[in-house]
Amino acid sequence: MARPVRFNVNPKDFTDRGINQVELPDGHMGEGFFATSFDKVVGLARKNSIWPLPFATSCCGIEFMATMGSHYDLARFGSERVGFSPRQCDLLMVMGTIAKKMGPVVRQVYLQMAEPRWVMAVGACASSGGIFDTYSVLQGIDQVVPVDVYVPGCPPRPEAIIDGVLKIQDLIHNESLRRRHSNQYKNLLETYGIQ
Ligand code: SF4
Repeated sequence: MARPVRFNVNPKDFTDRGINQVELPDGHMGEGFFATSFDKVVGLARKNSIWPLPFATSCCGIEFMATMGSHYDLARFGSERVGFSPRQCDLLMVMGTIAKKMGPVVRQVYLQMAEPRWVMAVGACASSGGIFDTYSVLQGIDQVVPVDVYVPGCPPRPEAIIDGVLKIQDLIHNESLRRRHSNQYKNLLETYGIQ
């Protein structure tokens, strides 16, 4: 005879724990309404729903796996949806040693991402080539793509990676909707040969 399947044999009481809520942006509140500006709402939504694309080539990628695990749990910041298609992701996380041969691949992935997109260099290798000051290793991914946040360490601990994500969230939250159309941004991309 089959054993009956029982779920939630010992249900936990979460009522006293409280639920984290995002902070309200600046605005005007009254009975039954709240008014704020459009870019603040968009920034709030974007910063709490970042879809990372992990480009992991070596040891720093292992730290990212720990960051996604239950103990550190990047899902707490709305970033649990890791994607491997550049077209749906908005945060390129480059983790590991990038050989010069791999540089064009990083750039290709970046180009396939839709705007707005952000880039995080995780660890010494992605940021500066790290200990590999050799003919074959790219001395920082900012030689091929613009980088928004650098996370130091060899490897950085998951806390440092989370700190980098929080910095990216700050950037996203405070970014003007017009920035991607500004001459300053276009000039930045032009220095990388990107139209
Ligand atoms: S920074 Fe250190 S841990 Fe990270 S990929 Fe380079 S050598 Fe490995």
